[in-house]
Amino acid sequence: MNRETGRRGGLLSLWIVLSSCAPEAQPAPQAPPLQYAPPPYGYPQGYYGAPAPPQGYGAPPAYGAPPQGYGAPAPAPAPAPAPPPGHPLLVPLVGAVMWQAETRAVLEELKAHLTPDKVALVTGIPLVFDPDPTQVNAFAGCDDSGAPFIAGTEGLLEAIDGMSQTKATDELFGTRTYDTYAQVAAAALVSPQGGSARLPMGIVPAQLVPDLRRLSRAHEIFDEIVAFTFGHELSHHYLGHTGCAHGQPAGIPPAVSDLGRLASSVVPLFNQPNEIAADSAGCINVLDTGRARAGVAYRWSEEGGLWLLDFFSRLDAAAGASPLLGFLRTHPSPALRIPVVQGVAATWRFQHPG
Ligand SMILES: [Zn+2]
Repeated sequence: MNRETGRRGGLLSLWIVLSSCAPEAQPAPQAPPLQYAPPPYGYPQGYYGAPAPPQGYGAPPAYGAPPQGYGAPAPAPAPAPAPPPGHPLLVPLVGAVMWQAETRAVLEELKAHLTPDKVALVTGIPLVFDPDPTQVNAFAGCDDSGAPFIAGTEGLLEAIDGMSQTKATDELFGTRTYDTYAQVAAAALVSPQGGSARLPMGIVPAQLVPDLRRLSRAHEIFDEIVAFTFGHELSHHYLGHTGCAHGQPAGIPPAVSDLGRLASSVVPLFNQPNEIAADSAGCINVLDTGRARAGVAYRWSEEGGLWLLDFFSRLDAAAGASPLLGFLRTHPSPALRIPVVQGVAATWRFQHPG
């Protein structure tokens, strides 16, 4: 699809942001063990009760240790506290069917907190999933008939699950499983064989896997990262970047078999002002939606976006000069996007105290 027809088939692809940037994968050597504590704008008070101190878990595994065997001694699980009244633990999100359903629910929640003029533009836009596990991608575009859609790949959902599972483990148990996961996933994704970001067994210590607090926290993190991811894509439609979202009846998504072609027909020169606008609008949408959750459920913040961009920074560092990922170098660097998200959130918080 050439540039002239790019408006119809054009896609604004967000994720594969593997352009050159500072290799943030270099770990800090001696961060203290993380205590599990509510983030400053995260949980309603008492959501999990008092955080359990990590004493007795021993030292966390060495940062950056080679992943062979993932063999650091596993910490002992903490006794699981009873969930506080009014805030039951969330169900585990396991497998593609649940991930897709959760993503649809998050997207609908985001839409519900847009202004009415924007809601009118994005109503009925279908969300479709590409089952390709080797691609970590989400994009907004127009199909061959000029109808808007949003797409995400199985590889993206696997990556968000991997991030969520490991970050939840680290928050609760003071481990460094996210560092190991990001290292392993990046190596797999940039390999010539085309690996996936699926969380390998053994990175999360086996005895911690069924911990209900861990699974509930992973659910929250999954939602928060998905909210930023798809809030960004949604904004490409209501900001007019795709040019095909005008308010439409519920649409039929493009065939899954067409998604690879549509994704590869991205207009070659990404539009950096549009990407910054989408990061800003998407972040504000997440923060507005998160504020409405205060006292009812986990309150989303920009943290999910920053986690995602950290993951992409690590992929970027792993990709190096890989020609396999050269086509991915058409999107803003995470190093540029992280301060945008932080600045937007700081401004929003100033404008919305409390
Ligand atoms: Zn974008």
